Amino acid sequence: MAEKADLLGMTLDETKTFAKEMGEAAFRGQQLYGWMQKGVPIEEMTNLPAAFRKKLQTECTYRLPRILQKQVSQIDGTIKYLMGMLDGECVESVFMRYAHGNTVCVSCQAGCRMGCAFCASTLRGRSRDLTASEILGQVAVIGRDTGERIGGVVMMGIGEPLDNYDNTVRFLHLVSQKEGLNIGLRHISVSTCGLVPKIYQLAQEGLAVTLSVSLHACHDSVRDRLMPINRTYPIESLLEACQQYFDKTGRRVSFEYTLISGENDSIEDAAALAARLRRTIHGPCHVNLILLNPVRETAFAAPGRERAKEFCAYLEKRGISATIRRKLGSDIDASCGQLRLNHVENANPKYK
Ligand code: SAH
Repeated sequence: MAEKADLLGMTLDETKTFAKEMGEAAFRGQQLYGWMQKGVPIEEMTNLPAAFRKKLQTECTYRLPRILQKQVSQIDGTIKYLMGMLDGECVESVFMRYAHGNTVCVSCQAGCRMGCAFCASTLRGRSRDLTASEILGQVAVIGRDTGERIGGVVMMGIGEPLDNYDNTVRFLHLVSQKEGLNIGLRHISVSTCGLVPKIYQLAQEGLAVTLSVSLHACHDSVRDRLMPINRTYPIESLLEACQQYFDKTGRRVSFEYTLISGENDSIEDAAALAARLRRTIHGPCHVNLILLNPVRETAFAAPGRERAKEFCAYLEKRGISATIRRKLGSDIDASCGQLRLNHVENANPKYK
């Protein structure tokens, strides 16, 4: 049997053509597209003829996620969502308010197979990739739930975007469409643990997104332990790919550096990091320091805030632009991946 059409994965033009193929006028496609971008279920698309809606429901797939759980921070209004997919898989998405606008953090895989030692998302491996429509659906549903304009997206939820490359690139095209959610590529960050060949590929796509690289260590011996991907693509090869990304796109590369007590947070580490970046990256770069969010299943701990400040000040002194990431939603604190993990473990006793 042919696969059902994936409605939310279509561009405006594709939706219009599709409506025509279903025997409707093109403007019905336009109406349908408008509703989908607003995260509206088919039964509520009130200006579409009932017969057309029925046909859509039976003959197509509409991969709009369902909100299974929602935590709202009383401190800063951050909202964390557990989103259910049609097949029962679930992921997390977060809505964050910043002075410059609202940003949504999306997941791109159910689980992750990258194996970073400090991360909750990877603890049970990867169940499957999300489709581009499922990634887009997270943004659409959050837009509807909050009723607010979303100005930016970060691909920093569960999963590795470059390990789900085609769906990620398709999503970037869909979410930035003028007629749709219209989120400018310049307001989108793609975060990666360092799949070097895919960084080169992304640099060729002509998409002006910010590349955010999870570095977390400046010595291969440490990074090999924290992030197994480093055994395949060591730091020097990763930094060369970052330089190439900047040369091709003109976009400043940003590095994530999660501070983990006793692992990568000494002043010697800061010195080595600064020296390494200065040597390899010719062009603007920025280091985002993050205090580890401790994960129950691992033994890692976060250093104190003072140490983070010293680390940051040292980088700055050596000419490397750095900031400590402000922590949003500290009262709804579960690390990314933990909401899903709890859900998976409770729903599937075999995991226990
Ligand atoms: N796979 C992508 C996106 C994942 S998560 C990547 O690796 O970049 C986004 C960021 O959160 C990454 O920098 C990741 O390393 C970091 N992260 C994961 N677990 C963390 C934790 N427990 N505390 C702090 N940061 C964490």
